[in-house]
Amino acid sequence: WWKKRNDEYDARNALRNEPMVVLDGKETSAKIRQELALKVKELKAQGRKVPHLAAILVGEDGASRTYVNAKVRDCEEVGFGSTLIKLPAETTEAELLKAIGKLNHDEDIDGYIVQLPLPKHIDETKILLAVDPRKDVDGFHPQNVGKMTLNLPTYIPATPQGIVELLRRYEVPTEGKNCVVIGRSNIVGSPMSILLSQHNYPGNCTVTLCHSRTRDLEEICRNADIIVAALGRPGFVTADMVKEGACVIDVGITRIDDSSKKSGFRLLGDVDFDAVAPKCSFITPVPGGVGPMTRAALMMNTMKVTELED
Ligand code: NAP
Repeated sequence: WWKKRNDEYDARNALRNEPMVVLDGKETSAKIRQELALKVKELKAQGRKVPHLAAILVGEDGASRTYVNAKVRDCEEVGFGSTLIKLPAETTEAELLKAIGKLNHDEDIDGYIVQLPLPKHIDETKILLAVDPRKDVDGFHPQNVGKMTLNLPTYIPATPQGIVELLRRYEVPTEGKNCVVIGRSNIVGSPMSILLSQHNYPGNCTVTLCHSRTRDLEEICRNADIIVAALGRPGFVTADMVKEGACVIDVGITRIDDSSKKSGFRLLGDVDFDAVAPKCSFITPVPGGVGPMTRAALMMNTMKVTELED
């Protein structure tokens, strides 16, 4: 549907000589999976080990189950080995730590993720610290966060990594641009701000990291060449907050009940897409933008196992 919309906006923007491009995460992620599948074939031909990704899912959260199942499907498509470990919601912290210890010592498992959020009785930080940094394909362990901050080779959290990859593949200009990141979480906003300010492409931005205590957020956004919205408030970024020609990346995913959909829900982003898109040079849709790129980035990180080992 956004391809049709892209054409409509292109036609409109042609009048002012500024084409708008929808950054298509679905198509780009499919391409990435194809490239990874070729690399898997090469590894096999060289008689080398094919990466094996494991995922631990604790409890029955519907969204988490959907995400984990999608990750397993992605592994199958690319040709990676995959193992899904499902634990009941009552699993204790000690039991989860034991399962993690097992994965840390399992030579067949090259990387693994612990699907978040965890049930409230489990201390998330304790769990993330227990993951062997060499198998931490989510890039959440402090050792890997430190390496990312120093721009050393390591696993990068999947969502920011997916966004960077999308910017790279669409050759979105970033050097010297004012970039506003809304949201400072450890998994999205904070690493995004670090990556976009790094001394390479895509990067070299002047980054402003905003959060719930930021004053004059709307005015700050109006000065942005690039906006990354990652706060989880549907439609938060409105047209009057966006300057003409900006690039807008919508990370937000909020599930809204919708009985007209087969799934029973629909997904809303943090950006008022219809109103904002006509002002943009580049924009990501929801769904079909950052979400699929996040999945692809996890697969890229899993392939990195072979490079970081060498
Ligand atoms: P989070 O941990 O809840 O963090 C939200 C951030 O937004 C916080 O830093 C918060 O500020 C800030 N914030 C909240 N309300 C604000 C406001 N009115 N003005 C300015 N800042 C505000 O969320 P997250 O995990 O980063 O996720 C953010 C969104 O991205 C969610 O919708 C999530 O579902 C989605 N997401 C999507 C993907 C994907 O693959 N597409 C991946 C991960 C997350 P404080 O720090 O001051 O509280």
